[in-house]
Amino acid sequence: MTLRFNQPFLTGRELGYIQDALHNGVLAGDGPYTKRCGRWLEEYVGCRKALLTHSCTAALEMAAILSGVGPGDEVIMPSYTFVSTANAFVLRGAVPVFVDIRPDTLNLDETLIEAAITPRTKAIVPVHYAGVGCEMDAIMDIARRHDLIVIEDAAQGVLAEYRGRPLGGIGHLAAFSFHETKNLMSGEGGALLVNDDRFVDRAEIIWEKGTNRRQFFRGQVDKYTWVDVGSSFLPSELVAAFLLAQLEDGRAITDRRLAAWNAYHAAFEGMERAGDLRRPIIPGHCVHNAHMYYLLLPTMARRDLLLKTLNDQGIKAVFHYVPLHDAPAGRRHGRPHGDLARTVDLSGRLLRLPLWVGLPDDAVATIRRIVAEA
Ligand SMILES: *Cc1c(COP(=O)(O)O)cnc(C)c1O
Repeated sequence: MTLRFNQPFLTGRELGYIQDALHNGVLAGDGPYTKRCGRWLEEYVGCRKALLTHSCTAALEMAAILSGVGPGDEVIMPSYTFVSTANAFVLRGAVPVFVDIRPDTLNLDETLIEAAITPRTKAIVPVHYAGVGCEMDAIMDIARRHDLIVIEDAAQGVLAEYRGRPLGGIGHLAAFSFHETKNLMSGEGGALLVNDDRFVDRAEIIWEKGTNRRQFFRGQVDKYTWVDVGSSFLPSELVAAFLLAQLEDGRAITDRRLAAWNAYHAAFEGMERAGDLRRPIIPGHCVHNAHMYYLLLPTMARRDLLLKTLNDQGIKAVFHYVPLHDAPAGRRHGRPHGDLARTVDLSGRLLRLPLWVGLPDDAVATIRRIVAEA
């Protein structure tokens, strides 16, 4: 059996929407499809404003500008995350302060945040790993008491919930990814979600290259001019047209991913009970979106061996993040808080399995057999 790690899913309506966008004659950003995607996200998340971007990386960069961090300011985040979480703030001259993760969800350990706060701390960036919510009540409470801004890196969190609230709708700001490796995708793509009123106007200006173009088209100002810093963060209408098809089928796509996730989870229950591995843990107050299925092996050597065995048999399993605090740029630009022992340990023992809509029926049983025999 050969199995790719990821296989992007198409709803079948993407091309029709792109064709319609061509007929509309608006191909640059902020046309009808961009607005429809924005409205869909605003209704689903319940946020004040959703602005499509060309990537989650871009949305995080917008959030970093909005948060007002500058040289020497500190931003608390996990080390166990994608580089963009940190890069967005390093580009503003800020220092990522890496805090360890929880052993159950592999999310930022909220009980370690307060000890990492200094007079320079400006923001906290929880990353919802595998689409499982961070402990947002505790994190928002810490932020309130220390006057910090919370930016959810919800790249993997589309259509997942924490205590009945959509991920991306809890922090002051949040970022989604629609990269082809995510649950809903447009090749490259993302969105900035603004939950706090005070950031709405400035977010639109930064999005539009630092101009008040949107206010001008709404008739709120009589000239369209350069009013703030900004950049080109908008995707083209062709990308938005593609994305709308995916958003409209988002629930069905997520349900099909959940079916595959549940099949893996059932298949590995016995091996977990026998102490051979550990399965993902989903807290009772979180509804996840089956973004990822991973296994934690007892040792790094066992993980590496299983990776090789699966890959040798055509099954593309992969490891995940190399902790940022230990990467060359992470050492140069960031600061670890504590020894990050759990980050180092867990990242070395984690293995991700193929998970996509249309995963063949016999894939889970085959993988289970290979894992059991390895
Ligand atoms: C995928 C991902 C990103 C980056 O998303 P892009 O859309 O590729 O820029 C950022 N953070 C996390 C946690 C991710 O998983």
